[in-house]
Amino acid sequence: MSTDIMVIGGGIAGIQASLDIADKGGKVYLVEKTPSIGGRMAQLDKTFPTNDCSICILAPKMADCYSHPNIDVLTYSEVMGVEGEAGNFKVKVLKKARYVDEAKCTGCEECAVKCPVKVPNEFDQGIGERKAIYMPFAQAVPRVMTIDKEHCTWFLKEKCGACKILCEREAVDFDQKDEEVVLDVGSIIVAIGYDLWDPTPATEYGYGKFPNVFTGMEYERMINASGPTGGEMKRRSDGKRPYKLAFIQCVGSRNPQLGHAYCCSVCCMFSTKEAMLAREHHDDIDSTIFYKDMRAFGKGFFEYVERAKNDYGVRYINSDATVQENPENHNPIVVYDVAGRPEKEEFDMVVLATTLIPREGAVKVAEMIGIPLTEFKFFESKDRILAPVDTAKEGVFLAGYCREPMDIPESVTEGSAAAARAVETVLAKGVSV
Ligand code: FAD
Ligand code: SF4
Repeated sequence: MSTDIMVIGGGIAGIQASLDIADKGGKVYLVEKTPSIGGRMAQLDKTFPTNDCSICILAPKMADCYSHPNIDVLTYSEVMGVEGEAGNFKVKVLKKARYVDEAKCTGCEECAVKCPVKVPNEFDQGIGERKAIYMPFAQAVPRVMTIDKEHCTWFLKEKCGACKILCEREAVDFDQKDEEVVLDVGSIIVAIGYDLWDPTPATEYGYGKFPNVFTGMEYERMINASGPTGGEMKRRSDGKRPYKLAFIQCVGSRNPQLGHAYCCSVCCMFSTKEAMLAREHHDDIDSTIFYKDMRAFGKGFFEYVERAKNDYGVRYINSDATVQENPENHNPIVVYDVAGRPEKEEFDMVVLATTLIPREGAVKVAEMIGIPLTEFKFFESKDRILAPVDTAKEGVFLAGYCREPMDIPESVTEGSAAAARAVETVLAKGVSV
């Protein structure tokens, strides 16, 4: 029997679950696949419905997690196998080599200065670049560099080693090896979040073809002061700022043909937020949101949309929309209809509210643990109404977007709920935390 609890996924849901358990005295292993905890919330500029700075409210929680004596944060790590039952799970975890000693690295980033390799920065949705040795983002936790073996010249050609020479603390270690550990835990919380859908196949929106069509997450990174453009909205075609913005809703969502018949639940609100933020950046920007239905169902959401209309001048048009392009200036042209009458309007930039999809690894995680998925490959609750964070398997719980589409406040609520259920499981097995 073990009193310890494993949380898989270090986004806001997993962070909240870990902190709740640890604050009650329980021991947590927080397993995060990427080099830093934080998840998608770390990528956002501001959050609806308060327009708080996302990383400003997340960063203290990330730091609390890492420094908590009861939480062992295993970043750049993945669950490879699960055996056993509630109270007595054995979980095999692969800790991938960073080729940088976590104990020695101070995160000064000096090692990256002379790194000759530049690749698109995934945290910035490929708009900016990073080196082969990199810090995932400015507020990353832990503040430790990672070498991307796929692109590093040392691993590809046994040449270079500039980072090793530059590091005064001798933290770079090309001989580091992946490590496998087996951890005994009494309960498991799955909080692996969502992936972003690539809208390129939906050619009617012109993403990937027309340079001034962006996704919502690309826009979030662009308007972020610590993002790749220093907070400036820049058109891909000429680097100029836009004056007229269009936001298109439900791109890929509520679309059975694409396999996403569900509503992603956050786009109506995040596009409203993004349009408001455009006006906060430049008071001469005009934004139009093309929507199918305005699903402003959360507390204060209706008022938020009213604020966007009345205080920020955001125009809402109830219509499906597709995108063409003016070849002379690369301005996107939105094609829509009003009461059946076809209309066209030229904009400087279009932002697509693309749907959010289950994590690529969700099927593997579900199979390893032995829990079912829904038809859309989100994790299935034991009972959607009466036991939403429970799964069919005793001792395994769910939190956040990996269970079903939800926003940050709901993900936090689920993190706390799953933490309480996991602690109850451990207590019920006759051990105290
Ligand atoms: P995530 O943030 O996805 O975190 C999951 C974590 O699990 C990640 O760190 C991931 O790396 C890790 N992981 C994945 N697979 C594995 C694995 N196999 N093993 C270990 N770790 C794994 N919501 C709001 O409330 N307000 C907003 O303003 C807002 N704006 C948004 C704007 C955009 C453009 C988008 C796309 C979404 C927005 N959202 C907003 C929604 C918000 O991002 C989510 O509600 C929230 O991030 C869900 O948190 P999570 O912890 O469930 O998932
Ligand atoms: Fe960059 Fe690799 Fe050279 Fe280090 S050894 S500087 S990571 S290319």
